[in-house]
Amino acid sequence: MKKSNPLPSAPSTSAAPEAKPKIKLDFNLTTGTKAERLEELKKKTSACQICPHLAKSRTQVVFGVGDPEARLMFVGEAPGADEDEQGEPFVGLAGKLLTKMITAMELTREKIYIANVLKCRPDMPANTSGNRKPTRTEMDACLPYLRAQVAIIAPVVIVALGSTAVEGLFGPQKTTISRLRGTWMELDGVPVRPTFHPSYLMRNQNLLLKRQVWEDLLAAMERLALPISEKQRGYFLKPAA
Ligand code: URA
Repeated sequence: MKKSNPLPSAPSTSAAPEAKPKIKLDFNLTTGTKAERLEELKKKTSACQICPHLAKSRTQVVFGVGDPEARLMFVGEAPGADEDEQGEPFVGLAGKLLTKMITAMELTREKIYIANVLKCRPDMPANTSGNRKPTRTEMDACLPYLRAQVAIIAPVVIVALGSTAVEGLFGPQKTTISRLRGTWMELDGVPVRPTFHPSYLMRNQNLLLKRQVWEDLLAAMERLALPISEKQRGYFLKPAA
C-alpha cells in the first residue's frame, strides 16, 4: 500500500552534522478520525530519537495544540524554554502576542491548530539562557512530522511565522521575510502565508510592521471566508491627521 505520511525512522549516523538526514517511510496514518490519527502521530513524535542531542536535552516533545479539524494552522520555528517546560507551543511572551493576534481575528487557540517546524527545544550550552535557531539538519529531520500533521489536519490555510519557519518549510530562501510576506507559498497543496514572527514584532514596536502582519492575517481570513468587520479592516492603520 502506498505510504502517504513519510516519517523519519532512524538517525543518519554516518552523516556529517549538517548533512541531510536519511528519511525512510515507515508509518501509515490513514485510518481513524483526525483526532485519532493525530494522537497516534503524537505518540510516535514523542518517542523520537532522530536528533540524539535534542532527545537528551528536551523536557518533552512539543507536538502541537488545537483543533484536529482546524481550517487555520500557525507554524512557528521551535519551542523555547517555556514551551519545553509546558509541552505546548507559543505559551511564552511571543505566544501571548500570537494569542492576541488570534483573538483579533475573532478566533480562539482552541479553534485553530498551532505547531512548530522543530518539535524539540534547540539545546543550549549548560548554564546559558535564551534560544538558538534550529539547524538545517534538525529542521530537515523534523519536517516530516509537521507534514504528517498537515496531511492529517488538512487546513485550508497555514500562516508561517518568521523566516526560520519559512526556511524550515521550504528550505533556504533567496529573499527576505520582508519580501516573502504579502505573498502566498504552498506546502503539499496548502496555501501558506509567510509573515513576521511575533518575537520580531515585540522587538520592533513599529506600526507599519504590525499593519503588515495584520494584512497577512486578513488575507488568511479572506481565504477562510471568515467575516471581516470594517473595524477589523482598519486595525493598525495610521489615525487620520
Ligand atoms: N517561538 C516559536 O517559534 N515557537 C514557539 O512555540 C514559541 C516561540
